[in-house]
Amino acid sequence: MRDRKELETLFHKHGYTDFKWVEPIDVVISQWVRTKCMFGCGNYGHNATCPPNVPSVEEVRQLFAEYRAVVIFHFAHTVEKPEDRHAWTRGVNQELVKLERALFLAGYYKAFLLCCDSCYLCPDCTGTRGTCKNPRLARPSPESMAIDVFATVRRVGFPIEVLTEYSQAMNRYAFLLIE
Ligand code: SF4
Repeated sequence: MRDRKELETLFHKHGYTDFKWVEPIDVVISQWVRTKCMFGCGNYGHNATCPPNVPSVEEVRQLFAEYRAVVIFHFAHTVEKPEDRHAWTRGVNQELVKLERALFLAGYYKAFLLCCDSCYLCPDCTGTRGTCKNPRLARPSPESMAIDVFATVRRVGFPIEVLTEYSQAMNRYAFLLIE
């Protein structure tokens, strides 16, 4: 990797100021996260960025071992109605994909983004990678890649709690893998 300062300048240029650097080894990858995707989440098999359309837990560990740095971006937001949540993350993630592209064009050719939610670019997801309507833009979420987001972000002092009311502010996180 070249200079972190150079990258931070790029993040700032794209409007991101709330982020932290972590070592790939400090990202907690756990089988229990994948199990919760398989049992208890309606996106399993219905969203093309969610399991089973993603690498295995072991493959995710391998993936992280191929990078030298991870940047975690923090986004906090409160919505009026629960149904507004995905509209908000859709906008956030569309901008993050542009940042990933900017890194690529700056020479960080391995840059890979994990969005801060499952992909909600289309009103009806096709449910498989092969049929995805926006394969160039769709990225998986950290959770769908078996990352224990709670444990990982708490390690670096970011806030996150289980929410019990939709009126409570959400703390969402995107991960950017960089060589
Ligand atoms: S781009 Fe559309 S089809 Fe592809 S994962 Fe996202 S919502 Fe699903």
